[in-house]
Amino acid sequence: MNFIYKRIVFKISGEVIKGINKSKINDDVIHDIIRDIKFILNKGVEVSIVIGGGNLFRGVSLLKLGINRVTCDYIGMLSTVINGLFLKDLFNKCNVPVYLMSAIATHNMCNEYNLEKALHLLSKSVVVIFCGGLGQPFFTTDSVACLRAIETNSDIILKGTKVDGVYSNDPNNSKNSVFFHQLSYQDVLKNEFKIMDLTAFILARDYKIPICIFNINHKNALFRILRGEHEGTIIKDID
Ligand code: UDP
Repeated sequence: MNFIYKRIVFKISGEVIKGINKSKINDDVIHDIIRDIKFILNKGVEVSIVIGGGNLFRGVSLLKLGINRVTCDYIGMLSTVINGLFLKDLFNKCNVPVYLMSAIATHNMCNEYNLEKALHLLSKSVVVIFCGGLGQPFFTTDSVACLRAIETNSDIILKGTKVDGVYSNDPNNSKNSVFFHQLSYQDVLKNEFKIMDLTAFILARDYKIPICIFNINHKNALFRILRGEHEGTIIKDID
């Protein structure tokens, strides 16, 4: 298999591992992801993961409880640490070398974020999981994915979702909606497609890092994306 991307950032939202707090983990999808990652590691692809926390707590959804925004976001960031610990253990169980780094201090729970160390581990085919967000409130893990992709000089950001990619309008509500295999950053901004939060998206655009939005439930999707085949929607610089 010829893969056209050498180093990837895979954004896994908390939704993908929903159920963790109800002792009912969505483990089929996660195990498929780990199996596919194991395969591509053996083919020389370097993988980092940015883990979300939305299955547990999102800052914005806590606001209605009357908690202040900064506290809400810290709760959100801690959720990403919980998911990170969980994910790390699953990789360990599947014998895939993995290293968990957190942007917020967690002392003996996980290692602290260190770019130099991350780059070294990636070059040694170790999966690096980034948790704890950026360690700063008012951001989401989409921004983390874009920032870590820039810092690690990655070739693409993969965002696995429950939908197939980007449509002109909601396919559930419109018979005329069109699916896009490819879009430019400008197309996304002009049409106000909701890909990820704007801060994150502008970062990816400015550093010309392609973003692929794809359905995480599609078997072998990761391989098709890395081979440059049609899977999901790819957003990139188009001349
Ligand atoms: N968060 C934050 N700063 C960051 C990253 C995340 O404050 O740098 C908080 C924010 O409240 C967010 C929550 O952590 O809602 C969980 O992250 P996110 O919503 O991105 O998770 P996902 O939707 O990907 O599961």
